Amino acid sequence: MNAKNAWVERAHSHFSEDFGSSAEWVAVAPGRVNLIGEHTDYNEGLAVPCAVDRRTLVLGAPRGDRKVRVHAWDLDEAGEFLSDAPERRESWLDYVQGVFFALAERGFDLPGFDLGITSTVPLNSGLSSSAALGVALVAGLNAGLGLDLSPSDWARVAHRGENGFVGVQCGLLDHFASALGRERHALRIDCRSQTVEPIPIAGAGFSILLVHSGVERRLADGVYGERVAECRRALGAAQAAGIAPPSARALRDLSEAQLPRLERALDPIEFRRVRHVIGENARADAFCRALVEGDTQSLGTLLAQGQASLREDYAVSTPELDWLCELGSRCDGVVGSRLTGAGLGGFTLHLVVPDQLEAAREQIGEGFRARFGRLPESLTALPSRGAYLEDSV
Ligand code: ADP
Ligand code: MG
Repeated sequence: MNAKNAWVERAHSHFSEDFGSSAEWVAVAPGRVNLIGEHTDYNEGLAVPCAVDRRTLVLGAPRGDRKVRVHAWDLDEAGEFLSDAPERRESWLDYVQGVFFALAERGFDLPGFDLGITSTVPLNSGLSSSAALGVALVAGLNAGLGLDLSPSDWARVAHRGENGFVGVQCGLLDHFASALGRERHALRIDCRSQTVEPIPIAGAGFSILLVHSGVERRLADGVYGERVAECRRALGAAQAAGIAPPSARALRDLSEAQLPRLERALDPIEFRRVRHVIGENARADAFCRALVEGDTQSLGTLLAQGQASLREDYAVSTPELDWLCELGSRCDGVVGSRLTGAGLGGFTLHLVVPDQLEAAREQIGEGFRARFGRLPESLTALPSRGAYLEDSV
């Protein structure tokens, strides 16, 4: 039995011990990392994430009543609610309830369920364990109840649950990546049209090294809201100056050719934010082309340019993140480096030639320790498939 199946088997045994009956389905959904296209989603731009080989399993069996009993094995916690009456508890259970809420909103009348959850996606780290949980649960309920929802719908339902019920103002990006990822592919996500295009990764591909800066990204929440507001103000100013048409809805509507006029019309901070967003959208497209062509040199250059823009124009890097990227640029076998996620903490992303992964991890870790006095946490991942149902046993 391979390691993955052993994991599923163990989860099956847990389920039977906890609930006294067998699970009818096992749904799986991965976490994700964003390769490029940062702070573009709320500007209706482009992002290029991929699903990774860290996954959440949800096992389920329907009940004869309305009770939903949920065991979160990783947290060693359990919770309960009624399938037709979810109520916010300000806990992990809300992510499960949110899915029931969002399916009810679509008109589905759901019975009770016994549910078990376990995951290899690190929680609260920016790898989108929340999307993995939501998408896996929707995929499982969809299969179990024959709801006839497509993988894009799994993403939309999970997103609606997280947004409309849990109350997290996250983009659809994470859920799309978790639901629609493909092995050896990235996804080009157009946040305006909500379309997702799989982008094949040519050649030998790369491994993903994520190194944690040790800085809690929750501290960045206030700055995130500030950037959203700055982008909105910049668009208003561009419209007032006659550069963007009144119909423009987001910074996506501005182009590189307008930068000189924007620089004259906008205040210097707002101009920098706009320059990042315009540049980042262009880099996301160029990155997709380089993936298809196996042009690793361009991939590296685009990641470095993205990092410089996040540091200089968007002001969301930190000395730790900058240093990790600098160390990456000095490593053989590292194709490119940048911070990933909203910034001001969290992980740096390094694309690495597979057989040099461990050497790069060690070299970056030691370089970080030499400056900051501690070894950073790191993890490795591969671009992987999106959500699926395990064959029933
Ligand atoms: P991220 O999505 O980056 O991991 P979030 O704060 O968006 O961070 O979501 C993490 C939250 O999602 C956890 O704190 C927990 O409430 C819930 N969650 C995710 N995965 C699980 C899991 N395997 N078991 C229980 N709750 C989970
Ligand atoms: Mg999340």
